[in-house]
Amino acid sequence: MVVSDAITIWQAVLGELQLCVPKPSYDTWLQGTSGGSFVDGRFTVSTPNAFVSEMLERRMHSVISQAVEKVVGGGVEIAFDSGPGTREAPPGPQPSAGNGNRPAVRRASPLNPKYTFEHFVVGKSNELAHAAALAVAEEPGRRYNPLFIYSGVGLGKTHLMHAIGARLAARGIHPIYATTEDFTNEYIRSIQNGTTEAFRDRYRSAGALLLDDIQFLIGKEQTQEGFFHTFNALHLTGTQIVTTSDRPAAALTLLEDRIRSRLAGGIVVDIQLPDYETRLAILRTKAEEAQLTFPEDVLQFLAESVHSNIRELEGHLNRLAAYAELSGQPVSLEMVRQVTADSHLTGRPKPVSSDAVVSAVAGYFAITEDAIVGRRRDKQTAMARHVAMYLLREEANMTATAIGRLLGGKDHSTVLHACSRISSQMDLEPHIRQDVFNIRTSLNAA
Ligand code: ADP
Ligand code: MG
Repeated sequence: MVVSDAITIWQAVLGELQLCVPKPSYDTWLQGTSGGSFVDGRFTVSTPNAFVSEMLERRMHSVISQAVEKVVGGGVEIAFDSGPGTREAPPGPQPSAGNGNRPAVRRASPLNPKYTFEHFVVGKSNELAHAAALAVAEEPGRRYNPLFIYSGVGLGKTHLMHAIGARLAARGIHPIYATTEDFTNEYIRSIQNGTTEAFRDRYRSAGALLLDDIQFLIGKEQTQEGFFHTFNALHLTGTQIVTTSDRPAAALTLLEDRIRSRLAGGIVVDIQLPDYETRLAILRTKAEEAQLTFPEDVLQFLAESVHSNIRELEGHLNRLAAYAELSGQPVSLEMVRQVTADSHLTGRPKPVSSDAVVSAVAGYFAITEDAIVGRRRDKQTAMARHVAMYLLREEANMTATAIGRLLGGKDHSTVLHACSRISSQMDLEPHIRQDVFNIRTSLNAA
């Protein structure tokens, strides 16, 4: 039996995961999820909110990916989506369900409902791109055709493109939005299946074509050919085309010249790095959207620390929300330090002493310091010892060899093993994460 329906697949995957993920983690993170879509080797899991997505992405990606591959067999890319409407197909462009070999999988709209003009913060860095996008959404095919938007990664190209798409769809002009990868896969598949005509018809009937991340055309000669013809056909009929790239058209040197000149022939706008005020405004918007309450000093700290990528800024916001939820504490600057201790976002207190770590761990697990250094192997003692090793490395910046020596002459590989065990258990078991979090907090407070 070929299982291709996302909902059925995900039910089977959940069955698998129940066997290998501890119950508390399962209940916390997986219970509310469902199968979103399964298209072109990409399986999308629908989650109740952004921070569940974030946690699954960060903490359970590999175990989930293995489980999915076990069910469907081989090479599947996993994505998590918390956008509303992934369970019920929303109005808007519905790409055809691909070739006839595969039963139709209900595909959610590829447009992220949160990526709208209303949710886009305009600042100096992006006002040109925003204005051009808005003009295109208002008057497609008129003044700015084709529109080419470029910027570094995570600065709002996809957001603007989806905003155009949503605005057009709302006005009854049905755009086709595709990542260049989707486009490529679809094109190649149409060649293999002898359905190039259907491919052509589908794209040529688009009300507008929104093609994201065009730099992925590089090195794909066959697809470039397909794109070139699609582009020309649409351009001839005055259909609006929007493309994005993470580098300027001129830098897409490996693209065929004729494509490059087509792209550059319309209007080209870039998005610069956002300034502090814009970053702060974006953070506020994102926190509001997610209904998170963050103290102003935390938002300012984040806006000061992350300069180059808004996606990363958002990632910190989601991680903090997850931490607040797990620890039952409100978000504070202190928490920011804990959560971001392992990233470059520092402001990190200086390392604590090894004595402090051992004594904090012993106190927390209610055992003696001698027991940590000793050889007893009961569960509680072993756990405390592993946590001590982990924290000695993380908080006291000690090497595995030094930790082994300190804890009664243990081998450095034993220490490394314990550390990696704790970090993977923290991924899966909220109560262990919580234990480590509590000890860390007491250490840093001391
Ligand atoms: P890119 O496509 O350039 O890599 P994205 O459009 O995916 O970047 O943006 C990354 C994240 O940053 C998205 O969540 C997006 O909503 C957010 N973002 C970027 N710019 C803005 C902005 N001006 N206002 C609000 N959110 C923004
Ligand atoms: Mg993008």
